[in-house]
Amino acid sequence: MSIEKLAREQVQALTPYQSARRIGGSGDVWLNANESPFDNAYTVSGQGLNRYSSCQPDALINAYADYAGVATNQVITTRGADEGIDLLLRAFCEPNQDSVLICPPTYGMYAVSAENQGIATTQVPLTTDWQLDIAGIDSALETDANIKLIFVCSPNNPTGNLINRDDIEALLTRTQDRAIVVLDEAYIEFSPEATCTDLLARFENLAILRTLSKAFALAGLRCGFTLASPAIINLMLKVIPPYPVPVPVAEIAEQALSEAGLARMKYQVLDLIANRAYLQAGLSMLPGVEVHPGFGNYLLITLDDAEAVFARLGRAGMIVRQTAVANSLRISIGNRDECEKVLAFIRQQLSE
Ligand code: PMP
Repeated sequence: MSIEKLAREQVQALTPYQSARRIGGSGDVWLNANESPFDNAYTVSGQGLNRYSSCQPDALINAYADYAGVATNQVITTRGADEGIDLLLRAFCEPNQDSVLICPPTYGMYAVSAENQGIATTQVPLTTDWQLDIAGIDSALETDANIKLIFVCSPNNPTGNLINRDDIEALLTRTQDRAIVVLDEAYIEFSPEATCTDLLARFENLAILRTLSKAFALAGLRCGFTLASPAIINLMLKVIPPYPVPVPVAEIAEQALSEAGLARMKYQVLDLIANRAYLQAGLSMLPGVEVHPGFGNYLLITLDDAEAVFARLGRAGMIVRQTAVANSLRISIGNRDECEKVLAFIRQQLSE
């Protein structure tokens, strides 16, 4: 018997998430993983490593609670927002019984993480303008009593748009005592006015995912947060592994959340938003290219020849991402030089 056959059937059948690093490629312009181009310097003490780390370091939780404007018992820190997704599934979904609802096109890890744990996924696609199909979600909830989590991403990855706040509220009202609404705000620093953290005071069934991977330019640190009612946080704390936050990670994250760290993050966000506007304006002048309004650190464009342009960009060392949206490319916002290079290359391709 092969080792493969010993694995859980669900794992044998699983198609793993295509992470940016897994796809690889060779190039010097990396605009495929919505990372920040800013490589900020940090210091670590390198001390106290003989001891296990605190499960939820107080200084880190306090700093993030302050930054997000919530109470400390409404915060849990995890290894990236991805671990938050995993813990919510673990805490709320019975394997081979419960399901989650997702609204594609959206972030791929909700479905992959669910499948990983033997949890079914019900899809209610976004409407043609990439908003929630509330009637469709209502009927899915009626048909399937086992839907426990509903994932909503705003700004949505890969489309870039914000989800209407009224619809999020409507969804939370309908699902009280019935399901958890997981609102993914991984990119919220690029549209801070759109945050729904104020809704935490009214809805016990809301969980908000956050991360230091995007605006804070710390994708390699693997540090994320979930903001939610103390009831949800306590359930997540029951299933989290004992020492999830390495000591150096806490030290760096605390520096990123200090007054100086926050000021730098905000300054860098403004810089990236200016680059986004530059790319948006330049690309939308190209014939046959539609640039969809983007509220994160990336733009989704649709164009007839997306496949060919993607391949040629790759050969020229510029790595962007193809998405589930037909004829689309998702381009992360890099530094000005990278944005200029990509724009010039696509312009040249389309004029040939
Ligand atoms: N949510 C969304 C919408 C994302 O795009 C990503 C990263 N690509 C994540 C969550 C996971 O982020 P992290 O690096 O914090 O695990």
